Amino acid sequence: MYRKINKTILQALREIVGPEYLLNTRERLEDYSHDETPNLSFSPEAVVKPATAEEISELMKQANRENFPVVVRGGGTGVTGGALAIHGGLIISLERMNRILEIDEENMMAVVEPGVITGVFHKAVEEKGLFYPPDPASLADCTLGGNLAEDAGGPRAVKYGVTRNYITGVQAVLPTGEIIEYGGKLAKNVTGYNLLHLLIGSEGTLGIATEITLRLLSRPKLRVDLLVPFPSYFKAVRCVSEILRRRITPTVIEFMDQKCLEISRQVMEGGVPFDEAAAHLLIEVDGDDPDEVEAQYEAIGEICLEGGASDVKVADSPKYQEQIWQTRRKLRECIKVVSPIKVSQDVVVPRMEIAPLLMGIDEIEKKHGIEIIAYGHAGDGNVHVNFLKRDREEADWRQDLKKAVREVFQLAVSLGGTISGEHGIGVTKKDYLDLALNPAAIRAMRRIKLALDPKNILNPGKIFPEEKF
Ligand SMILES: Cc1cc2nc3c(=O)[nH]c(=O)nc-3n(C[C@H](O)[C@H](O)[C@H](O)COP(=O)(O)OP(=O)(O)OC[C@H]3O[C@@H](n4cnc5c(N)ncnc54)[C@H](O)[C@@H]3O)c2cc1C
Repeated sequence: MYRKINKTILQALREIVGPEYLLNTRERLEDYSHDETPNLSFSPEAVVKPATAEEISELMKQANRENFPVVVRGGGTGVTGGALAIHGGLIISLERMNRILEIDEENMMAVVEPGVITGVFHKAVEEKGLFYPPDPASLADCTLGGNLAEDAGGPRAVKYGVTRNYITGVQAVLPTGEIIEYGGKLAKNVTGYNLLHLLIGSEGTLGIATEITLRLLSRPKLRVDLLVPFPSYFKAVRCVSEILRRRITPTVIEFMDQKCLEISRQVMEGGVPFDEAAAHLLIEVDGDDPDEVEAQYEAIGEICLEGGASDVKVADSPKYQEQIWQTRRKLRECIKVVSPIKVSQDVVVPRMEIAPLLMGIDEIEKKHGIEIIAYGHAGDGNVHVNFLKRDREEADWRQDLKKAVREVFQLAVSLGGTISGEHGIGVTKKDYLDLALNPAAIRAMRRIKLALDPKNILNPGKIFPEEKF
């Protein structure tokens, strides 16, 4: 049992962060009681906004002494409830720790505080001719600390990989309050256990990143998008496999079917720049050499036309590209407008299994009569599967949803995949963890958690199905 945050504890917290950075009125707490996970809300008992790792260390020591739970929060864009205070307690919001400390152009590295917004960081490095590839669709609001904790991906992962591939150093506060440092501006590092990679993807349960070192690339000079309509989704995903089979690696291969574009058309003012077609691929190539870029997109265009595409539109003007990407990035919001109650999962399968995955999802949709919209990062085998309630009766919807979600997870696992490619387990998937991991793996993870957080203070109730600490 955790202890409630009483007046004495509040006073101690106030002394650590300063009175103006402690919130505990109901109205102020409301802003921190939800993230982007649909239909989930938990109010914390207090929120603090520290400015340094030392303050966070003091906060964690206090939490261990007084036995209250702590949840750290970045941009609050998580979609599995990771930043929610499900046991009450304290939220540490990193919104004040938002400085880009250094962009080292010579080493092509940057050092940032965790609360830097990902899109702001993109712009800052691009102004210097540099490039930070991870591009979650939430980049206007999510933070680099949240990206570390979720090992965020994005459309460009096909060519450039995910957040994990770009972090080379971290300073972090452990759940007990100790401050650790691991790595730096290094291209290689095998010094002891890799604590950095243990923290990446640990969903705010093993430590709080307070300073992050990131690897940068040189900014590609050219970027071309292809918008490719298909008369059937099967033909579209078969082309994805064919492109990859021929060892072509575009930057992005995103898949959208007719159902999701129909919803975008209904919701987005000014319409969407997509044809009426059963499915679309959005494929991006980039590079520095105009001939190479052109050769690559022509080869992709030919594969798509041979595979049954009805057209291949080349978008090389920033305005057209922006319109296309706005539609893609706003899909999630548009779906929420037509069905405010929905559940979204992000299964991942080996890239060649994307067609069987989508066909299986179709079967599950028919079997349970539950509306499913699937779209996403086809080039990574990572599909966002959205279950829409619309105006169905609550009891029917809940019952069908439970079965359909489980079957989608089982399908992904049976195809050699797993239950999350980038959104994490959080609260919403913890009951399904044993579908994807064997008991020994889950036990090993629990032991790691217990070793670093003996009192289960930091982000309790996440990842693991039930609490036996
Ligand atoms: C419209 C939309 C599109 C999205 N698209 C993508 C996408 O393309 N790819 C993708 O991967 N995700 C996507 N997401 C999910 C989400 O944006 C990512 O998981 C993102 O990394 C969360 O960052 P955040 O700063 O908002 O973290 P939060 O939501 O604040 O927190 C998420 C988790 O990280 C922990 N955390 C936050 N900061 C730290 C820190 N400094 N140290 C340790 N733990 C920390 C929290 O405790 C929590 O468990 C999308 C979400 C939305 C709403």
